Parts: sequence; structure tokens; C-alpha cells
Amino acid sequence: MKHKINVLFLAVSVGLICLFFFETPYFIPLLIAVGVLFFVIMSLGVLFMKFNYFLNSVNRLKNDFVLLTFDDGPDPEKTPKVLDILAKNDIKAIFFMIGNRAEQQPELVKRVVAEGHIIGNHSYAHNNFMSLFSKKNLTADIAQSQTVLEELSGRKIPFFRPPIGYTNPSYAKVLAKLRLTNVGWTVRSYDSVYTEPNKLIERLLSKIAPGSIVLLHDNLDVTVDALSDFIDQATANGIKFANGETIKTIQHA
Ligand SMILES: [Zn+2]
Repeated sequence: MKHKINVLFLAVSVGLICLFFFETPYFIPLLIAVGVLFFVIMSLGVLFMKFNYFLNSVNRLKNDFVLLTFDDGPDPEKTPKVLDILAKNDIKAIFFMIGNRAEQQPELVKRVVAEGHIIGNHSYAHNNFMSLFSKKNLTADIAQSQTVLEELSGRKIPFFRPPIGYTNPSYAKVLAKLRLTNVGWTVRSYDSVYTEPNKLIERLLSKIAPGSIVLLHDNLDVTVDALSDFIDQATANGIKFANGETIKTIQHA
């Protein structure tokens, strides 16, 4: 992984600096420069999954469909509305559910599966500081959500998406152990920032392209309010959303 290359870069650089610059005025400044560069690169890796720094993520489809993904549900009021809109348009999506919310809405979990969508693991507690968790705590949280989601859905859960999209060096090992594929996104909707459905639709239409994975949230009013018109307008522009067949190929990718 790129993180290992960065660690190797740090070790080799420090070694060379000690060898050639020890007892020179450049020694300390060079060590600081190499250290700062290492942390800047690592921080970018924490913040942006698309760099595949700590682990490889699926950030785009290998085909021309557009895949909608909904995080942070299930929500008792809004998720059913999202499901109605998707059903009306014959679109299949991935719902990255939070384990402790799924426990509160077992019937909704079953409905999502019955209607042909995929459920993904979005952690048990959605702790915003999860990227600072130790390997042990990371495993405990993700495994707990995995158990809840698999029991409620009766399906193997193949995908994971980390809360707020931040990862750390332990994620690769934990997800490999739990046999989960990490899924990022191509287009971030910023539906948690927009309050106007029209602005959200405008952004989505300007960003999506064949193969895009779109990050949305099914616990937000603005997303529910924008979804139907967005789908209509994108379809009129020639966009094809993932259907039952597409979702099968994604599941077995
Ligand atoms: Zn989330």
C-alpha cells in the first residue's frame, strides 16, 4: 500500500540524512522537512479515500451506469420515501447503514433487501473520530455492525464505507479480516450542506458521468425532496442508473 511506501521513504531519508549530514547545519532542518512531508502525505491519505493510500477502495464503476449510494440510514420517515422513488424508477442502490440505526428499524432493513438493493456496513455507532480508533476498537465496531446487518437482512454484507470517509493504517487489515470491500465515491453530493433541493440537483447534474458512484444520505429531507427530479433530469440527459442486473455484477465484483 502507498502508506508502506511513504514509511519506507521516511526511513530511507532519515538514514541518508544521518549518514551524510550528521554534524552539519543542515541535519535538523532536513529531518524536519522529511518529517513534515511524511505527515502531509499521510494526512492526505487519511482525508481522501480516492488516493487508495491505506487501502484500495472502489471509487468508480467499471461500466457506464451511475450508482446511487445512501449513507446514515435507515431512517423511519425518509428511507421509505427514497425506496418508493427508486422503485418507481426501477433503480437499485447501495444503502450504507449504521448498525445501531438498523437495530431500531428491522422492517426497513428487510424492505431494502426485498426490493433488490444492497446493504453496506457504515459502522455500528458512526463515531466521527473512528479514524483515530485502535485496530481492536475498529474491529469491534465494524464486526458488531456486520453481525447486526447480516442477522436482520439474512444476507452476507459485502461492502463497507467508513464514517465521514476517513481511514487509517488499521482499516486495510480489519476489512480484509472481515472480508469487506471498501467503497468510496466518485461524486460527493454535499447533501448535508445544501438546504435547497434545486441547488443539490444542479450540483449532481454537473458532476455525474457514466461510471460515477454518488454519495447521498437517506436521512436528509433535502435528499428526499431532490431525488425524483434529479433522476428525471439525469435520465433525460442520457444517464443510466444501476438496475437489478448492474447491481448483481457489482455484488460479485
Ligand atoms: Zn455517514
